[in-house]
Amino acid sequence: MPTQTVLADLTTLPVPADVLALDARDPLAHKRDEFLLPDGVIYLDGNSLGALSRRVVQRVRHVTEEEWGRALIGSWTLGAQEGRDWMALPDRVAAKIARLIGAQPDEVAVGDSTSVNTFKVLAAALGVAAPERRVLLTDADNFPTDLYVAQGLTALLGGGYELRRVPADEVAAHLRPDVAAVLLTQVDYRTGRCLDLAAISAQARAAGVLTIWDLAHSAGAFPVDLNGAGADFAVGCGYKYLNGGPGAPAFLFAARRWHAAAPVALSGWMGHADPFEMARDYVPAPGARRFVTGTPMVLSLSALDAALDAFADVDLHALRVKSLALTDMFMALLDPVAERLALTLVTPREPAQRGSQVSYRHPQAREVMADLIAAGLVGDFRTPDILRFGFTPLYHSFADVYRAARGVQAMLEARA
Ligand SMILES: *Cc1c(COP(=O)(O)O)cnc(C)c1O
Repeated sequence: MPTQTVLADLTTLPVPADVLALDARDPLAHKRDEFLLPDGVIYLDGNSLGALSRRVVQRVRHVTEEEWGRALIGSWTLGAQEGRDWMALPDRVAAKIARLIGAQPDEVAVGDSTSVNTFKVLAAALGVAAPERRVLLTDADNFPTDLYVAQGLTALLGGGYELRRVPADEVAAHLRPDVAAVLLTQVDYRTGRCLDLAAISAQARAAGVLTIWDLAHSAGAFPVDLNGAGADFAVGCGYKYLNGGPGAPAFLFAARRWHAAAPVALSGWMGHADPFEMARDYVPAPGARRFVTGTPMVLSLSALDAALDAFADVDLHALRVKSLALTDMFMALLDPVAERLALTLVTPREPAQRGSQVSYRHPQAREVMADLIAAGLVGDFRTPDILRFGFTPLYHSFADVYRAARGVQAMLEARA
């Protein structure tokens, strides 16, 4: 049978009553209507590109037609009394993200990409570490851009600065007196394994090592408590679980205790204390705003600002509870058939060690995912052999999970 037809009716596949009952009891079920999800598709890739919220559509129309189209340059300052001016956008968005990651609003800066922000926080961390500590420690399997930015910065610094890559499990054993900082991604993009941010931050602090967390697959997926953990720096992505849209601005976190001492490597005018004074010398703005570099990306920041309103009335604990229930259910449905269908689970079953995705190895993962996507079940393939399914507690139902698991099963049975 052609694989496409196997899943032809996936989004209308009948769902058992016990699954429907879970949706009926789901306190977040109403959030789904805030998003525009295409018909005939089960979208399990919100961890790569979050779905479009209706608020974003309205806001982007308003910011283009009214704010840009009519008010033109006046919009930089228009509404400044109420904090609606474009100039204040980075700070406004920062405050919304702060709540999701356990930070104070003045500890978050928004703009640029995660990669660029990684450069900024690495430079800041290496700049406040004791001079005899010149090693930047990281997970050897960290996300490529984290590794590349760290390579670029250590090469630029020279002077004995070095990137040391060790397996994630051995990080604790490598917190030695020559280590300045450790750069870790909390949730592994392939396996979905979630590191214990609080425990590792505490171990690092005890060893005099600064922590830099990449929250790309954490922020908006479950509550993060950076200050509760005593983390030093962090970065994260605007277009994954925060649903800010393709290429959305990213964020960085710098704990207050470092604001005064941490160097701002990309000291641009928008991070100046008074940009329009046009002074000759850089004087940092108060708080993390100093890490904003250039002119705010108004269109994409506005989209992210609107997207973040989806979280305003959401209990972040409920978000985590639902996320774990979704991923638990997906694994439970595939468990009985996994071995027969050559699926090897690589995501931890232990809830505390799981992000908001489920991943399997499969010998033909690339082809299987291409077939699934063609049939309207969108996850993604990650080299060399990983099938990755992301679950977004804001807009996924338990019925989606049921249909997705049955779809994966049907597709693999049809291929066998
Ligand atoms: C997605 C992702 C990024 C993305 O970086 P960009 O600069 O936005 O391309 C960074 N780190 C991790 C761990 C990611 O998963």
